[in-house]
Amino acid sequence: MIDLRPPGAVRWICRELEKAGYETWAVGGAVRDALAGRPSGDWDLASAASPNRVRRIFRRTVPIGIDHGTVGVIAGDGVMYEVTTFRRDVETTGRHAVVAFADTVDEDLARRDFTINAVAWHPLRKVLYDPYDGAADLEQGILQTVGEPEERFAEDYLRVLRALRFAGTFRLQVERATWRALVGAVARLDVLSPERVREEMEKILTGREPPSAALALYAASGALAHRYPELDRQVGWSQEGRGGDLWSHALRTVDLLSPHRPALRWVALLAGAGEPEDGGPEGGEPAAHSPGRRGLLGAAALLERLRSSNARIQQVAGLVEFVRRPPGAGAPDAELRRWLSQVGRERLPDLIRIWIAELRSDELVGDGGEGAWERGRLERLVRRLRATARAPVALTTDELAFSGRDLIQMGYRPGPRFGELLRALLDRVLDDPTLNDRETLAAEAEAWMAARDEEVR
Ligand code: ATP
Ligand code: MG
Repeated sequence: MIDLRPPGAVRWICRELEKAGYETWAVGGAVRDALAGRPSGDWDLASAASPNRVRRIFRRTVPIGIDHGTVGVIAGDGVMYEVTTFRRDVETTGRHAVVAFADTVDEDLARRDFTINAVAWHPLRKVLYDPYDGAADLEQGILQTVGEPEERFAEDYLRVLRALRFAGTFRLQVERATWRALVGAVARLDVLSPERVREEMEKILTGREPPSAALALYAASGALAHRYPELDRQVGWSQEGRGGDLWSHALRTVDLLSPHRPALRWVALLAGAGEPEDGGPEGGEPAAHSPGRRGLLGAAALLERLRSSNARIQQVAGLVEFVRRPPGAGAPDAELRRWLSQVGRERLPDLIRIWIAELRSDELVGDGGEGAWERGRLERLVRRLRATARAPVALTTDELAFSGRDLIQMGYRPGPRFGELLRALLDRVLDDPTLNDRETLAAEAEAWMAARDEEVR
C-alpha cells in the first residue's frame, strides 16, 4: 500500500462520489508527479458519475466543460478540483479527439497518451491502478505511448509536442519505437492549431524545470524546423565572439531567466532572429532593414503566427529590437541618453535581466570575452544606463519643459508640425540637457518656426 498523500479534499470528493455508488480515481499528472516524488500540481479525478450527477452531489460546482464531462468541484479548502466522467475516444482527427462517456477506468486510461500519464490511484483504498506499467517506466526514466505509437500520434499530433516536453522536463529517454514514430509524425504538426502549439511552448517556458532539454528535443526531432523555423535557423549557426552556436547560447540563456517571466525567455530565444543570414554584414543581399528592425519583425511574425496576445507581441518584439544593440559601455552620455530615449526607460530593467543571463551563459562555457558580453563592460554599462534612466533629464517629448500648449500660447495653430518641432527640440535636449528650460526652448521653437517660414499668427 502506498500513500501518495493527496490533499484531504481529494479524498472527500472521492468518498462522496463512491458513497453515491460511482467509482472514482485520481488520475493523470498529479498521480504521475506524486509517484516520481515531485510536488504535484492539480489533482484531477475521473469518475463513473455523469456531469449532471456530479453537479447534484456537490453543493458548489462549476460547469467547466460539461460536453467533455468536466465539472469543477469547490471543496472545503476553497480549491476547485476537476472531476471528469470516464471517457473513451470515438473519433480522432489528428487535431483533436471526439470523446464519449465510458463506463470503466480501463477505457479512460486506454485513451491517455503515455504510460506515465495512464496511471490511476484510489484515494480511499490507496491502491495504484497501472495497467501499462507507467510507474516502472517512470522509475526507469522511459517515455512511451500507451499502445501503438504511430497510431497514438496520428490520433492527436499534439502528443508529439507533449512527448518532447515530458521527456525534456522529466529527463526521460524516449523509447525507440515511440521516438521513431514521433520523428515520422513531425511533418504533420502543421495540422495543429497555433493556440495549442503555443500553449505547449508556454508550458515549457513557465515550468519548474529548465526548458533547455525539451527545446533541444524540439530541435533534434525536427519539430523546431516545422513549427519554429526562425529558431531552427539558429541551430549550428556560429557567432563571432561566442563559442558554440546561437541556439545553444539561447538555450543556456533561457534556463538562466525566471520561469515567472516567460516573455524574457521568448526574447532570449528570438534575440538571434535578426542576425544577418550570412552571419556577417559583408556578402549577401543588402539588408532592407537594420538587424534590430529585422529582429523585431521576425519576433512579431512568429508570435503573431502563434496567435499570441498583442501585449505579449509588443513586449517581446520591443525587447528583441534592442537586446543585441546596446550602446558601448564607454559611449558619451549623450549617446546613452539617445539610446534610452529610443528604447524607453521602462524597458531597461528587462533588457538588463537578459544581458546578465547572456553574460552568464557565455561564462558557463568560458566565453565571456570579445564581441559578446564581458562582465566588467556589462557592469559599467548597466551602472551608467541606470543612472541615466534615474536622472531628471528629458528622454521623451512629454518630458520637455515646453509643450504644444506653450506653442498655442505663442500663437501657433496646432498641426502635425508641432510633433515634428517637439522631436527636434528633444533632439537638442538629448545632446545638451541644460537646454531643457521653457524660455530656451521657446526661443529655439521660434527660430525653428521662422526657419520653416511658417505663415503664422
Ligand atoms: P501538466 O499539467 O504538467 O502539463 P499533465 O499530464 O497533467 O501535465 P494535462 O494536459 O493536465 O497534462 O492532462 C492531464 C492528463 O490527461 C494527462 O496526464 C494525460 O493522461 C491526459 N491527456 C492530456 N492531453 C492528452 C492528449 N492530447 N492525449 C491523450 N491524453 C492526454
Ligand atoms: Mg495537469
